[in-house]
Amino acid sequence: MGSNPTSSALKNLLQERYLSLARKYRPKDFEEIFGQEVAVRILQNSISTKRIHHAYIFAGVRGTGKTTAARVFAKALNCEKGPTISPCSKCSNCVQISSGSFIDLIEIDAGSQTSVEDIRAIKEKAIYPPSQGRYKVFIIDEAHMLSNSAFNALLKIFEEPPEFDVFILATTEPHKIPETVSSRAIRIDFRKIPKEKIVERLKIICEQEKIDCEDNALNLIAEEGDGSLRDSISILEAVWMFSGEEKITQSAVEKFLGIAPRTSVYELFKSIINQDIKKSYEISQGIIERGYNIRRVLKDFAEIIKDCVFYLEGIETEREDIKRFISETNLDVENAMRIYNALIKFEEDLKFSISDEVAFKMIVFKLCYLNRVKSVREILEKMSLSQNTQFQEPDKIFSSIIDYLKETGRVFLAEKVSSLKYEVKDSLISFFTDDVKLAKAIEDIKKDIEEFLFTTKKVQIKIRVERESQNSIDVEKMLGDDFVKIEGVEEENIW
Ligand SMILES: [Zn+2]
Repeated sequence: MGSNPTSSALKNLLQERYLSLARKYRPKDFEEIFGQEVAVRILQNSISTKRIHHAYIFAGVRGTGKTTAARVFAKALNCEKGPTISPCSKCSNCVQISSGSFIDLIEIDAGSQTSVEDIRAIKEKAIYPPSQGRYKVFIIDEAHMLSNSAFNALLKIFEEPPEFDVFILATTEPHKIPETVSSRAIRIDFRKIPKEKIVERLKIICEQEKIDCEDNALNLIAEEGDGSLRDSISILEAVWMFSGEEKITQSAVEKFLGIAPRTSVYELFKSIINQDIKKSYEISQGIIERGYNIRRVLKDFAEIIKDCVFYLEGIETEREDIKRFISETNLDVENAMRIYNALIKFEEDLKFSISDEVAFKMIVFKLCYLNRVKSVREILEKMSLSQNTQFQEPDKIFSSIIDYLKETGRVFLAEKVSSLKYEVKDSLISFFTDDVKLAKAIEDIKKDIEEFLFTTKKVQIKIRVERESQNSIDVEKMLGDDFVKIEGVEEENIW
């Protein structure tokens, strides 16, 4: 960080080429619209099949490119070389649409322009044919905020729409648009853009603008942008000005956004896993004193736990920090899930707490105690439930296992297992099969099933897979007592 970021920021500001990256990188045609492939394809098909509808609803959270797509669509309809799926961006119609001066593109902000006069003006404009282009395009932003009389006026137009009118209703809350209107429009959904895609785009911009920026810094920016490319680009630009000529690092972004450094979030997580209340208190106190955004700390915390769980479940990650953290703390999935679930519930606490700081400290305390509470519960469970399988019917245990497989998305495996022969004896359920792959699949998941049966059905039972052909000879009877002695070996070598 420079000693005086303000002076370099000012210097940057003075050079016009640094101004508004978001504007500079606003898509000019369909090809440049990023991360909205489905929406783009619908609009392009609409043009190439010459089925231009008179009303569209563009639905999606803010910053997903609804208005931009609407302008590109207006261009595609009115380009002098069109209607075309690839407007030229050079003819006078295209240029005027880009600069916002095209007479047949009417943009309305429903939040502020809802007076009777405004609506009357729209109605009048809708009646007369376009004066310059092929289509008169109305983009109504935040359309859900239109008044009832405005919606009624729109309905009148939609009932007998002039063939040259195209209405695009952009909205973040499509459910608030009356049925009568939405049923007459084509709805196109704009999705939040995944973080990885935003990072990909930011990297390209950094290359073109010669911005020196760490990958981790871009990750943080994209996280903060929360699915909006425009917001992400604006943050990148602001951090860039803040950093002056220096490389944009993760810590520069953290400082700029008031985010607690990842390292302190990791430290906090570690002390919670270790149930170190004193250390957890010190770290949370430090976070509060430095004025970091507490909600953001909890969000980052949840994000880290989520990444840990995915990695522990076998999904590869390139994030070295996650791998290192897991090996340092011996975190397991069960523990991580417990902390995660508790954290999610605490979001509610935060809503009703008198202060974020108090709630934050209480959350940290409660998380530290989670493991202790559990160990007491575990002892109680063990005392009351040990080996009560004789009270359970074998069929019920079997169907619980099938249900578990189905519910965890292993439908194919569930189907296979449900056709197997099985036997419940003492605290052991044996499945018989000669299908090596199937046996391996059951072996891989049996620990999870055992745990599931124990925690939810109060059944303590072990699962074993045995060869079907061998079973038909009934080894147990043949070997008698000796069978028990070689049981462990059998289990390991059988497959
Ligand atoms: Zn053109």
